[in-house]
Amino acid sequence: MERYYQEELECASRETMVALQNEKLVKQVKHVWDNVPYYRKLMEEKGVTPDDIQSIDDLYKLPMISKYDLREAYPYGLLGCDLKKCVRIQSTSGTTGKRVVAFYTQDDVDLWEECCARAITAAGGTNEDVCQVSYGYGLFTGGPGLNGGSHKVGCLTIPTSSGNTDRQIMFIQDLQATILCCTPSYAAYLGERMKEMGLSPDEIPLKAGIFGAEAWSEEMRRDIENTLGIKAFDIYGLTELSGPGVSFECSEQSGMHINEDHFLPEIIDPDTLEVLPEGSEGELVFTSLDKEAFPLLRYRTRDICVLSREKCSCGRTLIKMKKPKGRSDDMLIIRGVNVFPSQIETVLLNYGYAANYQIIVDRKNNTDTLDVQVEMTPEMFTDNLGEIEKRQKDLIDGLKSMLGLKAKVTLVAPKTITRSEGKAVRVIDKRKI
Ligand SMILES: [Zn+2]
Repeated sequence: MERYYQEELECASRETMVALQNEKLVKQVKHVWDNVPYYRKLMEEKGVTPDDIQSIDDLYKLPMISKYDLREAYPYGLLGCDLKKCVRIQSTSGTTGKRVVAFYTQDDVDLWEECCARAITAAGGTNEDVCQVSYGYGLFTGGPGLNGGSHKVGCLTIPTSSGNTDRQIMFIQDLQATILCCTPSYAAYLGERMKEMGLSPDEIPLKAGIFGAEAWSEEMRRDIENTLGIKAFDIYGLTELSGPGVSFECSEQSGMHINEDHFLPEIIDPDTLEVLPEGSEGELVFTSLDKEAFPLLRYRTRDICVLSREKCSCGRTLIKMKKPKGRSDDMLIIRGVNVFPSQIETVLLNYGYAANYQIIVDRKNNTDTLDVQVEMTPEMFTDNLGEIEKRQKDLIDGLKSMLGLKAKVTLVAPKTITRSEGKAVRVIDKRKI
């Protein structure tokens, strides 16, 4: 039986949802106009006032904002209320330039945690579950978001944070954790460790996992599900909008339901900025409908994906987004070809490798080079050079048919590539260094 955290919203009729979105949008635009001079200026430049926004059909009239604006306005320029009303900040894990700092009032924190509670409930979580949160805690939103959601559902929450893998496994075993929340790469690593320790999927008490903050493939999902003996659910979010829980997967595991009563989605053409019809692939743009302290309108996520209103078997009516192909920021252009790291991962997992790899892009004699370093699994490990060459050739062929471009493949011994406890470093682009 499907369970919901807020059934009246998650399963609302289209009519009810649109009425709610209209009401919230009109109010939110006024809130931003009155409180965020930075955005008000953008509206004035476009000749738009709050009176022009009467319903979500008028959304297209509003100016879009991007990470550029967040940097320009750092740290307080997009703040939507008195700092005295704010109770929390979170920050992105970006490594270049100024970090994004997002502010939260207590109501904003509650809203965020409710979104995470919907995700945990959709993964089958109830107050009888033990939920181990192995996302990093701190400025990164993963830990605090799922921690709050787990409390709201009433799960017994184990805030292990990331790292100390053997202790993670000890808690999973001793405290009988049933739900695991972390990055997919860390879930894969935990699975690898447990396998080495001789634990079979039946001996692992986990039944579900909620994994996000990284792009991961369907093949990686199957791998994690088999090793840990669980059902693995995707979750999506951005610090700029709150954190994980902007959208989440249900039992159907075919795309993520967007919490559209809070985050209104659009798909645009990233070049012309034109709004595209439902079903088109393009850049995802979100309007936060009721965030008070950090109320972003028409925020460009850089994520490339597709929205769908096809009926879902779980009973939720919330619009679904396909797993983003990757951030347009993550997309590599190699010899003029668009390459997403997730495509490379799909090939590797299809050929029986685990998700332990690194993609190295460089430029030699004015030509881009793509070198994929992949670990052999312990089962396939050999020092027979003929065997290794054959395996490398198979992968080169597989990558060629997926990407339409020739890569170099280097197979390395098991455990050569550094493991990550948070977001894995998959790509080293030496052309930028
Ligand atoms: Zn569903």
